Amino acid sequence: MNRTFIIIKPDAVRNKYSGKIIDRIESEGFRILGLRLLQLSDSQAKEFYAVHKERPFYNDLCKFMTSGPVMVAALQADNAVQKWRDLIGATDPAEAAANTIRKLYAESKEANAVHGSDSDDNAQQEIAFFFKDSDLIG
Ligand code: ATP
Ligand code: MG
Repeated sequence: MNRTFIIIKPDAVRNKYSGKIIDRIESEGFRILGLRLLQLSDSQAKEFYAVHKERPFYNDLCKFMTSGPVMVAALQADNAVQKWRDLIGATDPAEAAANTIRKLYAESKEANAVHGSDSDDNAQQEIAFFFKDSDLIG
């Protein structure tokens, strides 16, 4: 079993899609180890997306990610990282496959409904960014 870290982004929470997305998480066979609602601070968003700080969209992305509440979750499944990325689809919803979460619920390439870790190592780091070990159901 592996873990991944996901965010239901401000657009999806604002558009009242979080329940539908959590339903999908469960029906696709992920186990939820931890889940909470929070609003990212400016410094949290900048640190979380630091890998993109040289990219032209970095400032707008951080502004968007702090624009309203998000839900953060740690999920467990076989091949959790890839399984979640397959389920969410391409970064740009216009390019996302039918029935993927981004195709169904994203607004744009920036406001694209959900985040998913891109490797097992990053999943561990991202989970630790938001959850203490004792916050997770083992
Ligand atoms: P995420 O990391 O959120 O799961 P991803 O791995 O598909 O998404 P990344 O390349 O890591 O995509 O980009 C991180 C986030 O930055 C994207 O999800 C999106 O919100 C935003 N982003 C990426 N590329 C662009 C772009 N060209 N214009 C605007 N926003 C972008
Ligand atoms: Mg990414």
